[in-house]
Amino acid sequence: MKVKDKEFEVYITEAELAEVVEQLAARINVDYAGKHPLICPVLTGSFIFSADLVRKLAMKCEVEFVKYTSYEGMHSTGKVQAQLPFTTKVKGRDIIIVEDIVDSGISMNYMLHELAKFEPASVKVCSLLLKPGCFKGGFKVDYVGKEIGNDFIVGYGLDYDGEGRMLKEIYRIKS
Ligand code: 5GP
Ligand code: MG
Repeated sequence: MKVKDKEFEVYITEAELAEVVEQLAARINVDYAGKHPLICPVLTGSFIFSADLVRKLAMKCEVEFVKYTSYEGMHSTGKVQAQLPFTTKVKGRDIIIVEDIVDSGISMNYMLHELAKFEPASVKVCSLLLKPGCFKGGFKVDYVGKEIGNDFIVGYGLDYDGEGRMLKEIYRIKS
């Protein structure tokens, strides 16, 4: 399967993604039972994952999108840009940041630093995917859907230069 100029192969099927989302939601439902968290999905990559996840949550919750970008094409620029930042709405709230993938962790480190300025009551990170081989640390990913290798992936919200987000499976670049 081709996205732009690169060949990709199926890596995580639709059925496995549904299973992973189900398991994440089950854990969050236990931890946040009786609470009223504010879910903050990070645009654009997590729009599909977060839509699936929140529909499996059992507690009362609200959703407030943020948008922080760092990737260009297939690589991180290392510079994080806030396009839709956290606001005073997070003050005193139990926040769950929802990401598509934590790679180096640079973006999340930056976001956590920004978020802390607004004094939330608590903060947890939920990421569909984690690349442990790239992760530089600095924070804990409280809810990890699945750990993957260092390969570049697209689909289920994740893009290659703007394309491929609508794919139902996650695809890995063919080497
Ligand atoms: P980090 O700052 O942790 O290095 O990168 C995090 C962000 O980079 C993710 O939110 C995601 O938008 C993007 N990213 C990291 N790895 C990949 C990948 O393999 N494919 C795509 N499409 N985006 C990625
Ligand atoms: Mg992202």
